[in-house]
Amino acid sequence: LLVKRGAAKGRYDQDTIEAILDRALVAHVAFATENGVFCTPTLFARVGEMLYIHGSQASHTLRVLQAGAACCVTVTVMDGLVLARSVFEHSANYESVVAYGRFTTVEGTDERLEALRAFTDKLIPGRWAEVRPPSEQELIRTEIVRMPVTEASAKVRSGPPDDDETPDAELDVWAGVIPLSTSFGMPVAAPGLRPGISLSESVKRLVNGHGPGPRVEQ
Ligand SMILES: Cc1cc2nc3c(=O)[nH]c(=O)nc-3n(C[C@H](O)[C@H](O)[C@H](O)COP(=O)(O)OP(=O)(O)OC[C@H]3O[C@@H](n4cnc5c(N)ncnc54)[C@H](O)[C@@H]3O)c2cc1C
Repeated sequence: LLVKRGAAKGRYDQDTIEAILDRALVAHVAFATENGVFCTPTLFARVGEMLYIHGSQASHTLRVLQAGAACCVTVTVMDGLVLARSVFEHSANYESVVAYGRFTTVEGTDERLEALRAFTDKLIPGRWAEVRPPSEQELIRTEIVRMPVTEASAKVRSGPPDDDETPDAELDVWAGVIPLSTSFGMPVAAPGLRPGISLSESVKRLVNGHGPGPRVEQ
């Protein structure tokens, strides 16, 4: 499981791995069945060393995972484009995690609620406390599975291009990093939102707290 190409970018400590999992919004879950190889994009959340995904009872992916299929989960955060003087040295700044394991079904109501809270508050911190909790029926219709993140590696690239100290630095070509960030835009109210309902505090914090994007009134 050691990172071989670009080995210096490999990280194996749990803190780094968990921090990347918490930053990333989407995971790709890959698995093989007798019908072929699949790779499903999905939201996910982390609680401790457990990675949770959820979906409907009808989900093919969840059914295969619940049956104990070996799988590989990857997450990626892109932080920038790295422009060098040569095509060859161009790169990207990123943080990524690759984890191997098997998912099991989460049965207990407390853990299921905790996982759903983690999904919600990961994306919109504080939202769980503002909205109606899941009903018993909604809980029953939601499948939740968990995988311990114990066999995992991270890979991280940051900083400028690698050709500053090479003969290419003599070329008259701009080189450097173009940062790339994910930000939230101005919230758009649901067409059916009743008049007079102001933005939730969690939404204000989310929109105002991320990068140079728009700001909503406090
Ligand atoms: C950002 C993001 C977040 C998501 N979050 C969740 C989540 O939290 N929970 C959840 O259940 N689902 C989520 N989905 C949808 C998920 O990717 C699957 O479409 C869904 O879970 C159904 O899975 P399935 O195995 O039943 O697919 P099936 O409907 O059985 O898929 C049949 C075939 O359709 C194609 N297909 C399936 N999904 C996609 C897709 N997303 N894009 C393109 N082709 C596809 C593939 O060829 C697949 O083999 C998310 C998708 C995205 C892009």
